[in-house]
Parts: sequence; C-alpha cells; structure tokens
Amino acid sequence: MMKAAPWWITGLFAVSLALNMWFAGIPDWRWIPAAVAGWYLADLLSGLTHMVMDYRPCTPGIGLDRMFHYAGSRESDEYLALRAEVLPQISPFERLVYDFKNHHPRPEALGRRPFLVQIGSTVMVAALPFSVLLNLLYIAVQLPGWLIAGAVVLTIGGTLAQYFHGTLHRPDNVWIVRAMRHTGLLMSPEAHALHHETLRRDFATNTGWSNPLVNAIFRLATSRGWLTEMGLEPH
Ligand SMILES: [Zn+2]
Ligand SMILES: [Zn+2]
Repeated sequence: MMKAAPWWITGLFAVSLALNMWFAGIPDWRWIPAAVAGWYLADLLSGLTHMVMDYRPCTPGIGLDRMFHYAGSRESDEYLALRAEVLPQISPFERLVYDFKNHHPRPEALGRRPFLVQIGSTVMVAALPFSVLLNLLYIAVQLPGWLIAGAVVLTIGGTLAQYFHGTLHRPDNVWIVRAMRHTGLLMSPEAHALHHETLRRDFATNTGWSNPLVNAIFRLATSRGWLTEMGLEPH
C-alpha cells in the first residue's frame, strides 16, 4: 500500500534540500553538536510517529480486520478483491496507520520494498513541507548556518526513517548502513527485536538513542489511557 512520491515531488525535495545545504554555508565546530542534535531528533520523531501509528485505532467494521488476519495467499483473487473493497473506504493517512500495524505480523515485507516507496509518504507528508519552510525561513530571516546544518541532518534522518527501519528487517545491507551500525549511528536488529517482542517499548528505529524518552512517554500515555491495546489491531 505504500507508494513512491510522484517524480516531481521527489525532484522538488532534492532541490529544496540542496538549497538548504548551500544556505548552511562554511562548516565550523558548531555544526557538530547541531548535527548530533538533528540525528537525535530524527530518532525521536521516528519513535513518536511509530508509537502513535501503532496504537491509533483504525475505522472498525469495514473489513480491515479481515485483511489483517487473512490467512491465505496475499496474491489470491479473494484477498485482492477484499483489498479493493476495503481500502477505498479509508483515507491515505489511515492507510499509513494500517501499514504500521500490518508490519508486526509481517515484518520482512518492509525490507523488501524499493527505496523510493519506503520514503515516499514521509517525503510528501513531512520532509518536503519542512524543507521548503526552512528555505523560506532562511530567505526571510537569515537563520545561522549551524542551525540550518542541524535541520538538514534532521530532515535527512527523518526522511530515511522507514528505510532504516526496513534495513533492520533484511539480512543484506549496503556497507554504509553496516558501518553506521558499528559506530552506533544506527541501531542493531537485536535492539529493534525488543520492540517486536512486546510492541510496548523501543519504538524509535533510527539510532534508538531516544528510546528511554519514548518509553517514558509511552508509559505515561498508557497509564492515562491515551493509548490502549485495542488500537494495536484493526477490529
Ligand atoms: Zn510497531
Ligand atoms: Zn520493525
């Protein structure tokens, strides 16, 4: 159900991001803390988004539960007919919510998706608007270079969140992903497996640096009843 963004959106995003890199100017020491903060914030956003999408209830009674629990082949005519009947009834946003829940019983599917499909929704919903806003802010008020640099790192980390999540569910990864895991700039599949064990912890999927904070927010949200187990699967 995930889709790549139209080519011109992906192109516009690339241009906007390149413009922000240009605006950031000459690197200095302040770029280092700014980049670390941007990388942390991207992880935090991956965790909070994942937590909300996992627990946000889907529209009940329209067959999403039958799709979710469908036991036969997902290439069968029966399943495809069910999908064609159910999906037009929900918004593009709810399809994303469903995708997150659907990831739990079928985790490897995410890793098999093409790169542009993995990042498509994030680019359209968040990364492109944020990047263009940053372009306009710089033009209007000349933000400092280190701040733009940190925001670019945040944009890149946020855009790649679902790609990074996918790498945690496939055995073959490019060298840069393996190198970033070794240096702690990306989390390990073992660390992410803790999420899949209980679905009650460790929602962040980039570095995992923010998981202590996200876990504290999760405990608060469940104790207050803002998030409930009912939301984990469609009914
Ligand atoms: Zn999850
Ligand atoms: Zn996962």
